[in-house]
Amino acid sequence: MQIAQNKIEELRSLLSKPQSIIILSHTNPDGDAIGSSLAWSEILRSLGHNVTCIIPNRYPYYLEFMPGIENMLIYKSDGDKVEQAVRGADVIFCLDFHTMTRLEGLGSVISTNTKARKVLIDHHLDPVEDFDLMISYPEASSTCYLVALLIERLYGSDKITREMAENLYVGMMTDTGNFAFSTVTPDLFRMVSVLAATGISIPDIHNQVYNSFTEGRARLFGYVINRKMKIFHNGTVAHMSLTEDELRRFWFQQGDSEGFVNYPLTIKKMKMSAMFTQHTDFIRVSLRSRGDIDVNIFAQRYFHGGGHRNAAGGKSFVSMEETLKYYEKCVKEFAREGLL
Ligand code: 5GP
Ligand code: MN
Repeated sequence: MQIAQNKIEELRSLLSKPQSIIILSHTNPDGDAIGSSLAWSEILRSLGHNVTCIIPNRYPYYLEFMPGIENMLIYKSDGDKVEQAVRGADVIFCLDFHTMTRLEGLGSVISTNTKARKVLIDHHLDPVEDFDLMISYPEASSTCYLVALLIERLYGSDKITREMAENLYVGMMTDTGNFAFSTVTPDLFRMVSVLAATGISIPDIHNQVYNSFTEGRARLFGYVINRKMKIFHNGTVAHMSLTEDELRRFWFQQGDSEGFVNYPLTIKKMKMSAMFTQHTDFIRVSLRSRGDIDVNIFAQRYFHGGGHRNAAGGKSFVSMEETLKYYEKCVKEFAREGLL
C-alpha cells in the first residue's frame, strides 16, 4: 500500500505553519493507539507545533514504559484540561479509530469545537466520513505503520528518533500479533529495519509488553481457559466470559484480559473465538477469527461494534447469561448463511 500523494500534500500544507494540535485516540487505548499518538506528537512538536495528546481513559500498566506516555491527558481524570485544550485547537488528529462512538463521552467534547480541521489517520474498515482529511488504509497492519510512512514521506525517515521508533515498534508488534498476522508485508519489515537502526532494543520492548504482567493476571488466565472456555459448533467456535466477581477475585487491573481471546484459536479446528468481560454498564465483547471468517461483520451485526476482519469488538447491554445464549444463537445464524 502507498499513501496517496494528494493526501501527503494536503497534510504538508496543513502543517506548514505552527498550529495548536490535539491528538486523540480510542477508549481502552492499546499499544497501537498510544504508540501512534506519541510518535506523531513528537514529530509535530519537533516542527514547532503545540501538541496535546488525549485519551478517553487510562492505558494499561504494562504500557507505562512508553516514552512520553506520562504527558498524555486522560479525559476521565483531567476533564477540565482536556476541554480547554480541545477549545483552543486548530487541528484535531484522530488516530487508530474510525467512529466517534469509540471516544465515549469525549466524542461530544470534540464536536463542540467546530473551527478545528479534523484529520483521521487509521486502519479500521468503514470509517465514518466526518473528517476534513481522511488517511484511512484498512490494509495497513497498524496505525503506527501509517504514522511511520507519513513521517517518512513528509520529512524523511532520518527524522525518526529512537523514542519515536520505540513507540512505533510497540504498535506494529502488538497489532500484528508479533508480526504473525496476514496483514504483514515486506514493506512493514523494511520499516521495522528503519526503526531498529535508531538503536531501540527489540528484546526489551518485547519483555515490557508481553512479560510484565501481575501474578493475578497469570492466575486469571489459567482460570478462564480451564473453567470458563466453552467450545461448541463441532469444536470450531469458543467463548469465554468474566463476571465482576471473578475479576475482583483475581485483582483485575485494566488490560489484564487483553489477548485472552486469542488463545482458543491455538486449537487446531478453531475458527472463531469470543471473550465477554463485564464492565459497570455493559459487557465488553472481543472477537477473533481465522482466515475468511469475518468478525467485523459479526460485531457490526450483533454487537453494535466493528473492527477488522479477524479482530473486532463491540458491546452487550443484557446480562452475561443472556449475552452468552445470544452469542450462540448468532453463531448458528452466521453459520446458516454460510459465513462460518
Ligand atoms: P479488542 O478485542 O482488542 O478490544 O478489539 C479488537 C478490534 O475491534 C479493534 O480493532 C477495535 O478497534 C475494534 N473494536 C473493539 N471494540 C469496539 C467497539 O465497541 N466498536 C467498534 N466499532 N469497534 C470496536
Ligand atoms: Mn490499531
